[in-house]
Amino acid sequence: MRKDAEGSVGGLHLKKLIYIMVVISILISALLSFTTFRTENAYNELYQVTGEFIEWQLNVSDMKIASDYLTEQVRCFAETGEDQYLDNYFTELNETRRRDNALEALRDEFEGTELFYQLEDAMLLSETLTDREFFCMKVKLIATGRNLDDYPQQVRDYKLTEPVESLPQNQLDYMARRIVFDAVYRSLKNSVNVSVENCMKQIQDEIDTRQQASINRLHDLIFYERLLIIVLIIALILMVTTVILAVIKPVVKAVPHITEGEKIPEEGSYEFRFLAKTYNEILETNSKQKVELEHAALHDQLTGVLNRSGFDSCLRTLDFNTTTLLIIDIDNFKEINDTYGHTIGDSVLKRVTDTVRTHFRSDDIVCRIGGDEFVVFMRQTGPDQKDLIIRKISDINDSIGVPIGNIPAISISVGAAFGRNLKPEDVFKKADKALYESKENGRSCCTYYE
Ligand code: GH3
Ligand code: MG
Repeated sequence: MRKDAEGSVGGLHLKKLIYIMVVISILISALLSFTTFRTENAYNELYQVTGEFIEWQLNVSDMKIASDYLTEQVRCFAETGEDQYLDNYFTELNETRRRDNALEALRDEFEGTELFYQLEDAMLLSETLTDREFFCMKVKLIATGRNLDDYPQQVRDYKLTEPVESLPQNQLDYMARRIVFDAVYRSLKNSVNVSVENCMKQIQDEIDTRQQASINRLHDLIFYERLLIIVLIIALILMVTTVILAVIKPVVKAVPHITEGEKIPEEGSYEFRFLAKTYNEILETNSKQKVELEHAALHDQLTGVLNRSGFDSCLRTLDFNTTTLLIIDIDNFKEINDTYGHTIGDSVLKRVTDTVRTHFRSDDIVCRIGGDEFVVFMRQTGPDQKDLIIRKISDINDSIGVPIGNIPAISISVGAAFGRNLKPEDVFKKADKALYESKENGRSCCTYYE
């Protein structure tokens, strides 16, 4: 196909289509990967917020647990006077230090906030309780006649008022218990608990806010991801549909046409249309050439009538029950060639052909079966047309018996035979015999084989 015709092909360019498909796929995949990455981050954030919540909760509850533990140990000591409780108390207060550690752990995150003030309040109240607890311990130690030097500095340093120091041992013992069980102690204790509970509530609120923000972000990202997946699916469906319509369908449709040797429909993509158009043009050229070749194979180049092969084919296919066969031979043709040359001889052959054709019906078939030998198949005729045939030949001889231009006068001899119930070869033999007779009878005549 010519290059200038490429523009008129039309259709979608596969090159462009593939380019667009690749770009769309890369774009959506990149967006999807990025969103997945962000979703993972949001999920980790949510996970971290939940972890922090648990950690802060533990810290705040540590404060209460430590305070309760100290209360429990001091009360047990007040009741029993056993040193083990004092040891437990001071281990918690000076070494384990859960209250102080909890406050420190929350300082970074909450310092300066309402929550932290509450915690510091709880700590202060707890320290006030500690003071009362030292008071209780010192009173109990004196009441039980212990050597104060064997006990921690914090207890020894606690100053008792003179009236207290002068009380008898049984009253001091009673007093020690009252200090850690009375209404003042319980009220302080209660205030510590209220502060801790408030902190818990605030932590809960803070976490709720942070969790909700993370959940909202996660929801947005998941929605965005779903949207991208839907877009990806739609893009995929469009791509597959386009490929089916532009490439697969035209190819599938073309196959039966190719099998049947027919033109293929010019549809689908630009490239397929281009192929189809080129194929159709080649097919058209081939079939034209085939027709020309077939025509050349069956026709005589000089005269244009059927040649020997064409004649053989007619012999095989015609119905001889209704056909009369005429063999025509030019008289003394050799002489024409010898006298006027082959070119004039060829002109004579053409003149005879034209004259014969004009004297027979268009349905009748004229063949040149040899040098100066012709056959006419007169279709739909019978023996009753014998006179007509003889008259036609006479007319032809009258016509060609007159020189025209540089073509000399000539004549033909004819043998005719009708072939009802005969094999075609036998009809031909009969006509040939009749021709022979015509030649024998002085030429320029027609003999009908009876
Ligand atoms: P007769 O009357 O007995 O038929 O005598 P004739 O000279 O015609 O003899 P014949 O039919 O046997 O001669 C045929 C001649 O036709 C022989 C050959 O030189 C000539 N011829 C055959 N083919 C061609 C051709 O294509 N062109 C020309 N110019 N002459 C041909
Ligand atoms: Mg001859």
